[in-house]
Amino acid sequence: MTHPHSLMPSRPHTINNRARHVRLLILSILMLLPLDASAGWIRQEAAIMGTAINVELWHEDAAQGRALTQAVLDEMHRIDNLMSTYKPDSELSLINANAADGPVTVSTELLSLIIRALDYSVITAGAFDITYASAGQYYDYRNAKKPSDRQLEQALPAINYRHVKIDPQSSSIEFMRQGVRIDLGGIAKGYAVDRSMEILRSGGVENAIVSAGGDSRVIGKRRDRPWNVGIRHPRNKDSIVSMIPLENSAISTSGDYERYFEEGGVRYHHILNPGTGTSSHEVHSSSIIGAVATDTDALSTSVFVLGVNDGLQLINSIPDTEAVIIDNQGRMHYSTGLAQLQ
Ligand code: ADP
Ligand code: MG
Repeated sequence: MTHPHSLMPSRPHTINNRARHVRLLILSILMLLPLDASAGWIRQEAAIMGTAINVELWHEDAAQGRALTQAVLDEMHRIDNLMSTYKPDSELSLINANAADGPVTVSTELLSLIIRALDYSVITAGAFDITYASAGQYYDYRNAKKPSDRQLEQALPAINYRHVKIDPQSSSIEFMRQGVRIDLGGIAKGYAVDRSMEILRSGGVENAIVSAGGDSRVIGKRRDRPWNVGIRHPRNKDSIVSMIPLENSAISTSGDYERYFEEGGVRYHHILNPGTGTSSHEVHSSSIIGAVATDTDALSTSVFVLGVNDGLQLINSIPDTEAVIIDNQGRMHYSTGLAQLQ
């Protein structure tokens, strides 16, 4: 079959022009392709540890950047498998099942994080306490479930970080009382974010953000400008009350709007006062800015329980650490380092 064009009189200059166009087109595609394929911003979202994970980074080699992003997600899964109380065979669940009956040997990694959490109990006078779970285990926010008065009464004496005995020599942990449960929900996401940043940095990444729910850490910049992390309005999820520019630091926010249900005009949410085994109502949210996310995570939960005065006093005593607190009337409070900037 003859192509209709072949019936037209030949016009060599047009064909030459077209050929040149095609050559130019191929050339420009070739020039663009290596740029696109070999360098750039990579962004990945996922749902791990019961929360939204976000990884954004710049790498000279896009394939390597994608591999590092995957390594971060793998690390989050690994930490979840180690520390989740929802997984019956996690190392943490094995501790909860057996440590009241005698010492349980644990990995040095998990033991180190538990020791760090216990240190926070000491500096917060017990406001941060992983044994909150002795009562916390009876709450199910999704299904609007809370402990009965009797369950709460029985659980309360088990909430005390001093019941947790660590033997670093044998890398073991023991609960000195029946009924004690621990949960690392107030520190594990920050830890996962810090571990992720170590993976990215050792892979040569210099500009990145890693977030796990309310815990974020950034290094370098985002397209030549500081990273910005928003503090959301505690009663309006579409509104941001403050944008915090960050470079090489971490920020964690704890809020009473993350996991909760309401009953009889009371908001039952996931941050408990270890003294009562019930939700803390002094503030709506607390955000902590510091060097690493493990610390900002533990501190945001701590300050939430401590309230405005004791919370600010604690944060003002820790170098290079700042706080933005929204109290239960919606008023904002700042640590001294930030108040100077207002
Ligand atoms: P999230 O990012 O899940 O909102 P937060 O950093 O605000 O986490 O911490 C809340 C979590 O901390 C709860 O879900 C629970 O697992 C744990 N937690 C609650 N109360 C305390 C407490 N008083 N001390 C230590 N951990 C707590
Ligand atoms: Mg926290």
